Amino acid sequence: MTRAVTGRTDHVVVVGAGLAGLSAALHLLGSGRRVTVVERDALPGGRAGSRELGGYRLDTGPTVLTMPDLADEAFAAVGDRLADHVELLPLHPAYRARFADGGTLDVHTDAAAMEAEVERFAGAREAAGYRRLRTWLTRLHAVQMRRFIDANFDSPLGLLTPDLARLAALGGFGRLDARIGRFLTDERLKRVFSFQALYAGVAPARALAAYAVIAYMDTVAGVYFPRGGMHALPRAMAAAAARAGADLRLGREVTRLERSGSRITAVVTADERIPCDAVVLTPDLPVAHRLLGRRPRRPVPLRHAPSAVVLHAGTTRTWPHLAHHTLSFGTAWHRTFEELTRTGTLMTDPSLLITRPTASDPALAPEGRHLHYVLAPCPNTDTGPDARAWADLAPRYRDRLLATLEGRGLAGLAAAIEEECLVTPADWTAQGHAAGTPFSVAHTFAQTGPFRPRNLVRGTDNAVLAGCGTTPGVGVPTVLISGKLAAARITGTPGRRTAAKGGRR
Ligand SMILES: Cc1cc2nc3c(=O)[nH]c(=O)nc-3n(C[C@H](O)[C@H](O)[C@H](O)COP(=O)(O)OP(=O)(O)OC[C@H]3O[C@@H](n4cnc5c(N)ncnc54)[C@H](O)[C@@H]3O)c2cc1C
Repeated sequence: MTRAVTGRTDHVVVVGAGLAGLSAALHLLGSGRRVTVVERDALPGGRAGSRELGGYRLDTGPTVLTMPDLADEAFAAVGDRLADHVELLPLHPAYRARFADGGTLDVHTDAAAMEAEVERFAGAREAAGYRRLRTWLTRLHAVQMRRFIDANFDSPLGLLTPDLARLAALGGFGRLDARIGRFLTDERLKRVFSFQALYAGVAPARALAAYAVIAYMDTVAGVYFPRGGMHALPRAMAAAAARAGADLRLGREVTRLERSGSRITAVVTADERIPCDAVVLTPDLPVAHRLLGRRPRRPVPLRHAPSAVVLHAGTTRTWPHLAHHTLSFGTAWHRTFEELTRTGTLMTDPSLLITRPTASDPALAPEGRHLHYVLAPCPNTDTGPDARAWADLAPRYRDRLLATLEGRGLAGLAAAIEEECLVTPADWTAQGHAAGTPFSVAHTFAQTGPFRPRNLVRGTDNAVLAGCGTTPGVGVPTVLISGKLAAARITGTPGRRTAAKGGRR
């Protein structure tokens, strides 16, 4: 049994209605707690937000939805079902990868289809390597999920279980790119199974091989798209929480917490004071620490993940070779990660994620129009240009991005744009994200698992953190788990994976 908050926990206030906060709320409601959710924005979703732009409906954050059963688990906590509220479209292919040499590979999640595709692309030996890689990814996921991801830790000693030995035997503590290289030799294929390290904020050459679990999530377990856009997920979670009795207070920023000794007694906004027995804090760590009035001491300052520029383009035409998700790789690879994580310069030969949500749901754009979302990783403001420099840089970088895309088969893109919006680290900074990145604290070894900022708060008996800055980490599946783990700290339940059930628990 892991530690839990002490004392009364009848009424819990959750600060933030992002995916972590909504997950915490649903799990707490399912355990019979009274829940109030206080959110600064007018809409739920947080980083998984939505914006209307000249008749186009944009998702402002995540586009790659994996492991939707974790969201279903939150619905099941209140006797509800995700499928009754959100239509999930499985994406085939999960991604299309386009390489600088003109080669194209469709990433299928079906084993036989992917094996055939790898054989077509790189020959029978690589196809056999893919088969072994898939088995390894599946075993890695099974070992990690039950003990290292979907689990609360009280100390690094909590890692000392037979699963640690299993993870070590699987090579989880080696380097990601070297481990992928044991299965595949084609450099282009290796990229398809290691670029995901960037989702964790680390270069594949430096990431722990254990982070191949992300490649399990997208290339094996599959990628989905909710009809209506990614924002349909937090919208539906907020509605489910309200149906289950949560009091959702949107458009209210929490300005301070009231405390009596080591307990938080109330959450305060500009116009109200909400008494509570316990609190779940999901804002970025600096905000959570400011509200708590204390900042934990760490021997080394936290290192943040790289950031991203996002170009949303509503266009009069599209390009049929684009799948729902297209990975457009440059020739450069190691240099790109050096630029993003070390030298702090913009990618000189960019690798980009191009998402075309209207490929799956044309209703997201006006009749006959198309939506394109281009994500260009960039350094955060600690290592690269600061927020002020971005004001000057943004229009030039936009032009550079468009020129790159036009050169990579999207000829006529600039002329086809009728609505656009460019989001840069200056915007992420304005939204309050530390180091100008929405991807929070990087998953370096020293900031992973029990070494990541913990969800229990030292010196406060009834506050728990949730969200991407704490365990297990950044990304939709992980923050959904973090909400569940925070709820488990309050209810005293183990917080382990439960099968999604139809009935109220
Ligand atoms: C551009 C982009 C692309 C991404 N792509 C992917 C992807 O493809 N796949 C994937 O899995 N993940 C992706 N992610 C990451 C994923 O979206 C995030 O890790 C996750 O949504 C974070 O959820 P959260 O609940 O931790 O934080 P948030 O969503 O930020 O929630 C915190 C909430 O707290 C609120 N808040 C803050 N301060 C206060 C206050 N004082 N009072 C009241 N409320 C407050 C905020 O408004 C916010 O709603 C992406 C993120 C971005 C931004």
